[in-house]
Amino acid sequence: MEESLKQQLVDRAMEQLAKKSVKAECPRCGANDWNASATSYLIADIDRPVLAMPPPRVPVLSLMCKNCGHIEFHNLKLLGVIPLEPAK
Ligand SMILES: [Zn+2]
Repeated sequence: MEESLKQQLVDRAMEQLAKKSVKAECPRCGANDWNASATSYLIADIDRPVLAMPPPRVPVLSLMCKNCGHIEFHNLKLLGVIPLEPAK
């Protein structure tokens, strides 16, 4: 994904989190200094065969605390930043 598009997703996701009154402080150390990025992760499901296609993907805003390294994720679809796919 293009970097400027990723930054737009990050900005929109951060706006949504602010609207939802999500606390800005790290839950582990209390710092407020995050490294944010938008990406998709493959989620391994231990009950599905390894070759199941397509593998489940979750687009997320990932946040890493620059002070203690705590990492957390927010689902970009749930935040309304990426459209939900129609049910199949
Ligand atoms: Zn921290």
